[in-house]
Amino acid sequence: MPRLVDGLGRRFQYLRLSITEVCNFRCTYCLPDGYQKTASRPFLTAPEIGRLVETFAALGVGKVRLTGGEPSVRRDVGEIIRRVRAAPGVDKVAITTNGWNLARQIDDWSAGGLTNLNVSVDSLERDRFHQVTGHDRLTAVLAGLDRALELAVPSVKINAVLLKDAAGPDQFARFAAFVRDRPVAVRFIELMRTGDNAGYFADQHVNGQVLRSWLEDNGWTPRARGHDDGPAVEYVHPDHAGRMGLIAPYGAGFCDGCNRLRVTARGKLRLCLFGDGGLDLRDLLGADEDREALERRVVEALGGKAAGHRLAEQITGDTRHLAQLGG
Ligand code: SAM
Ligand code: SF4
Repeated sequence: MPRLVDGLGRRFQYLRLSITEVCNFRCTYCLPDGYQKTASRPFLTAPEIGRLVETFAALGVGKVRLTGGEPSVRRDVGEIIRRVRAAPGVDKVAITTNGWNLARQIDDWSAGGLTNLNVSVDSLERDRFHQVTGHDRLTAVLAGLDRALELAVPSVKINAVLLKDAAGPDQFARFAAFVRDRPVAVRFIELMRTGDNAGYFADQHVNGQVLRSWLEDNGWTPRARGHDDGPAVEYVHPDHAGRMGLIAPYGAGFCDGCNRLRVTARGKLRLCLFGDGGLDLRDLLGADEDREALERRVVEALGGKAAGHRLAEQITGDTRHLAQLGG
C-alpha cells in the first residue's frame, strides 16, 4: 500500500531534496546579486541525507532529485549520490546542476549510480549564456553534458528558462539542432514569479504558447507522460534523436498531477514549491532517532497539502528565489 497519498488522492513517489542553498552563479532570474548567506544553521550532512532518503523510500519514494542552490558546490556530492542510490527502493537518482564543473565530476557521479542528469543551459550562444548566468562557461558546461552522453547516463536533459528577450524561432531552432543527434530532452520552463523577482518577471515572463506554436509549426508532436515524470509536456520529431518540451506552471491543471515532495537543505519538508514555512524533520534525522516517528510525521503532514499553488494571484508563499528550494 502506498503511504504517501494526500487528501486529493495524489501519490508521491518523487522527492526533490535541496542539499545546499549556496550557488556560484548569478542567474538574472534567480540570484542576480549572487548567493547571500541567510541562516547559520548548517545544511543536512550526508549521513542525515542518507537516513532521510531511506525513510522516504520506505514510504514508497523511488526517485530522488538532488538540487539546490548548486548541488555540485558541495564537496561530498559524490558521496551523497552513493548514499541515496544505496537506499532500498530508490532506483532513480537525479541531479539538477548548472554544470559549471560537470566535465570533471560526471564520471564519479555516474559510477556512484546517477541515473538522471538535468543541466541548466539557458542559451547555446556563448555571450548570452554569460550574460544570463554571470559566467563565461558555456563550452565547459556542454563538454560535461557530452561526457554524460558518452558515459550513457540513462537520462540527460537540459533546462532552459523561457525569457522574453530570447524566446523566439532563432533560439528554438538552435536547441532543436543541438538535439538532432543527441538523445537529450530540452525543457523550457516558463519564468516563475518569486518573492524577489517581481520587476524582472513583469519584464521577462512570456507564455509558453510561443514555444508550443513553434514546435507544432515545425513538425514536433507531444508524447505521453510516465508515472514519475515531472510536469513537462515533451515533443518528439522523426528527424531528431532528442526531445523538446515545456514546463508551464501557470497552465490550467498544473498542480493536479503533482507527484513530488520537497525537503530543504536544512531539513524542512515543503509540500509545495510556493507554500510557506515547512515542517522540520531534522530532529528525527539523528542516528539514534526512531524511523517510525519520522514516517508518521511525513504521512500526517501530507493530509494538509493544498490543492494547488496560487501564483496566478501573485501569491508566491515565502519563496524569495528558487535557489532557496531547488525549483
Ligand atoms: N543550480 C541548479 C541549476 O541551476 O540547475 C539547481 C537549482 S535551480 C534553482 C533549478 C532550476 O530552476 C534551474 O533549471 C533554473 O533555471 C530554474 N529556475 C530558477 N529560478 C527560476 C524562475 N524564477 N523561474 C523558472 N525557473 C527557474
Ligand atoms: Fe544558481 Fe541555479 Fe539559481 Fe542559476 S538557477 S543562480 S545556477 S541556483
